[in-house]
Amino acid sequence: MPALPSTDHVHDRVTSALQRCGVDHLPEVTGTGHPARTPITGEALFDVAACGPADVERAIGAADTCFRTAWRDTPAPVRGHLVRRLGELLREHKGDLADIVTVEAGKIRSEAAGEVQEMIDICDFAVGLSRQLYGRTMASERPGHRLMETWHPLGVVGVVTAFNFPVAVWAWNTAVALVCGDTVVWKPSELTPLTALACHALLARAASDVGAPSDVHHVLIGGRDTGALLVDDPRVALLSATGSVRMGREVAPRVAARLGRCLLELGGNNAAVVAPSADLDLAVRGVVFGAAGTAGQRCTTLRRLIVHEDVAEAVTDRVVEAYGRLRARIGDPFDDATLVGPLIGESAHRAMAEALEEAAAEGGTVLCGGARCLEKEAPDAYYVEPAVVRMPRQSDIVRQETFAPILYVLTYRTLEEALDIHNGVPQGLSSSIFTTDQREAELFMSAAGSDCGIVNVNIGTSGAEIGGAFGGEKATGGGRESGSDAWRAYMRRATNTVNYSTELPLAQGVSFL
Ligand code: NAD
Repeated sequence: MPALPSTDHVHDRVTSALQRCGVDHLPEVTGTGHPARTPITGEALFDVAACGPADVERAIGAADTCFRTAWRDTPAPVRGHLVRRLGELLREHKGDLADIVTVEAGKIRSEAAGEVQEMIDICDFAVGLSRQLYGRTMASERPGHRLMETWHPLGVVGVVTAFNFPVAVWAWNTAVALVCGDTVVWKPSELTPLTALACHALLARAASDVGAPSDVHHVLIGGRDTGALLVDDPRVALLSATGSVRMGREVAPRVAARLGRCLLELGGNNAAVVAPSADLDLAVRGVVFGAAGTAGQRCTTLRRLIVHEDVAEAVTDRVVEAYGRLRARIGDPFDDATLVGPLIGESAHRAMAEALEEAAAEGGTVLCGGARCLEKEAPDAYYVEPAVVRMPRQSDIVRQETFAPILYVLTYRTLEEALDIHNGVPQGLSSSIFTTDQREAELFMSAAGSDCGIVNVNIGTSGAEIGGAFGGEKATGGGRESGSDAWRAYMRRATNTVNYSTELPLAQGVSFL
């Protein structure tokens, strides 16, 4: 098992990375501020200044003024210059940001670098978008009239993010919101303040380099209370919130009560169907990365494997065998040999242990994994062996998202039965089918198939690209971010009718005066 670095080593590495990104003078741990921890050792690295209500008021006020007096009237392609410069700085500091992501979220280095690459990709996308915020022209029913739609900036976008994608989700929102002419106030996860400070510093540098106003972006370090101030502020035109279903249930009614707009990206409970015709080599690789990668801490992590009974034994044996090989590769996420880093913290470990107990009580059999590792080397860190559990049916625990590496295995006889199991959970984020039967693949992607926002064929549930719209249905919240036409959520649409004739015909043939 790759040995763990000391907290001092992690501290020094992240300090250098932060400094290169433009974040200086982080105070040492005193126990009085907001602690920035690393799940690698479970210990605190710095005390970060948390924001109070006055800071929130100032940040929203400044972002709102900047929106009204400067940013919304800056031509979109000129707004694109800021995002292009941000993309250049992200390329330059890809290694630094990946280091900070690994330190704070515990992701293995290649996944952390992949997350930063997503930021770069969305910047490229948004720069192109800055010249493509197209509206439609429609045929008017009246002679001498033109009917068209225009898209305008919305205002301040409040961005609330989760710990597990501490930089990519911010970039999906911010790169697109900025070219759309919005200003951004970001409340990152309380578990990942360092990545947030680094992103903010890079964006501030980009703004200064291109002459954009510094108030286009503010960051608020703090917990739920700080987030709640953004949620309730009527100046926040759009609240884009990523996190658990629990958080969405708290936030959505409050934004609705002030008739604000919400974009919700909440939890998933993702499944893969493995059909008898599937290429099993491919399926097993897709399943293992989807379920055990990122230590089971992706919103798109594979949590349910729905496998045809003819291939169930072969697939399960091969997955369990692959998990056996993972066991020696749990540990320091900076080590290239590591494939499974730590859980984010103690509560995640407790949730995993409780879920395994509940699964056993509901008739499940643990086929492998579940044990805690490295607790002697790092008593405050939580490393676990990813678990595979065979379930007799889709019981209560299987229908919940436990944010840890537990893969439940269920079997099916007909595709109809597989779809019933697949869609029989509250969440609707990501899904996949492994099959070489075109009819099955098409049915899975059809209206009668998977009810998720992401529907894949012959790839796993995790690892989306930025070009598509990302998000899910049902309890996942219905929001879409990133590519395709997700930008429309960050703008308001005006429908314009222009009369260039000398008459005033009324629509629908109405006559008046
Ligand atoms: P979380 O819900 O605990 O916290 C997410 C963010 O919401 C944090 O910034 C937190 O401070 C804030 N928050 C929580 N309650 C709030 C409230 N009442 N008012 C205002 N802000 C509040 O989630 P987490 O543990 O950080 O992340 C894991 C969860 O996020 C999982 O459920 C995962 O599936 C989900 N997730 C979803 C997506 C997606 O795109 N669908 C992406 C990443 C993570």
